[in-house]
Amino acid sequence: MPDQSYLDWPFFEERHHRLAQDLERFATTQLSDLDLHVEDDEALDANCREIVRRLARADLLKTTCVLTEEGKFDVRSLCLSREILGRHAGIVDFAYAMQGLGSGPISLFGTREQREAYLPGVIAGEKIAAFAPSEPDAGSDLAAMATTATRDGDDYVLNGTKTWISNGGIAHQYIVFARTGEAPGAKGLSAFIVEADNPGLIVAERIKVIAPHPLATLTLDNCRVKASAMLGKPGEGFKIAVSTLSIFRCTVGAAALGFARRAFDEAMGRVQKRSVFGQKLANFQLTQTALAEMAIEIDASALLIYRAAWAKDVRGERAVRESSMAKLYGTEAAQQVIDKAVQLFGGLGVVHGMIVEELYREIRALRIYEGTTEIQKLIIADTLLAEAKK
Ligand SMILES: Cc1cc2nc3c(=O)[nH]c(=O)nc-3n(C[C@H](O)[C@H](O)[C@H](O)COP(=O)(O)OP(=O)(O)OC[C@H]3O[C@@H](n4cnc5c(N)ncnc54)[C@H](O)[C@@H]3O)c2cc1C
Repeated sequence: MPDQSYLDWPFFEERHHRLAQDLERFATTQLSDLDLHVEDDEALDANCREIVRRLARADLLKTTCVLTEEGKFDVRSLCLSREILGRHAGIVDFAYAMQGLGSGPISLFGTREQREAYLPGVIAGEKIAAFAPSEPDAGSDLAAMATTATRDGDDYVLNGTKTWISNGGIAHQYIVFARTGEAPGAKGLSAFIVEADNPGLIVAERIKVIAPHPLATLTLDNCRVKASAMLGKPGEGFKIAVSTLSIFRCTVGAAALGFARRAFDEAMGRVQKRSVFGQKLANFQLTQTALAEMAIEIDASALLIYRAAWAKDVRGERAVRESSMAKLYGTEAAQQVIDKAVQLFGGLGVVHGMIVEELYREIRALRIYEGTTEIQKLIIADTLLAEAKK
């Protein structure tokens, strides 16, 4: 049984305890008939659609869009969900998280009509969501986006390329960011809801990555949308992208924490069973050192992640530095923990199909997407220097 003592930390409320139980029950009882390790595009897409449907049936998607009475996300619930689902299977965490990231701009900036048109379908698992700011020449530097949206009567016409779009190919709607030109750079971008069946939106290419999930490059070729598809005001696109990312940033750390906990549990099981030199691997002090280091990294990550989520939820703070620390530390520490687990498994650790091998592939992209480790360091330093100037 994985360590759940952290749930008694003062960051959590009763509803989080109930949610943790629901998630655990869902993950252990509702997924066993699915092969969560398929790599073929068609099977992968079918799996993701089915996972989203099942999450919805278990009423677990409402945390991805329903805002609290004050109009905010319950970030602790998002983090708990990602941690627990991630501990069971990366693809399940992925399917859950993308419903939130892909609809976050609508939750945060949509008009009542936009929220009513899109969010119920996301929560019901009928509509799959995607978030599309990245471009071939605009990843870390989102203000460099080149996709254009040109006003034409009551419409905007979008042209350009979006890449690395998770859920690309299976999403029903994409939040597309494009240059509307109110000002140069970050202030000249706007956000649009583009439905997947729009003839100007083309899934140009699937991208194969080391931990397979639906991922694609999209082409926008004279893609015409009504002006009412714009989220927020013209020129607010960058703010919308950054605000959404800042909510979900610490949840990436939480998913990584789930992976790390799973790797730790796998390693604990292995070292107590495996005999070398006439005794159990767990008896050697070098093994114990590894276990201790893994446990410290896991607790340190959890503290940073739930501190950030708590500061957002309870203090109502933007918690920019705390969120960046949580994302950076959670993902980097998980990489170390998983690497140690692979080492403790010896040769078996790199065999295709072993859980630690899968986690080793699964963790890598989390250090890159939604702001790389280097970008998080820049954000952390930026907030420190800004405060020092005050
Ligand atoms: C699996 C996966 C899923 C993704 N899903 C989505 C999605 O759903 N939607 C979406 O829009 N995007 C998505 N992305 C894209 C992701 O957000 C970008 O890959 C990420 O922001 C990095 O951008 P880039 O790949 O262009 O790298 P670059 O920006 O080219 O960075 C390359 C390297 O340079 C470093 N670097 C950049 N700037 C600096 C600097 N100022 N100082 C020092 N180092 C720097 C980076 O840290 C990195 O190590 C996904 C990516 C992956 C891998």
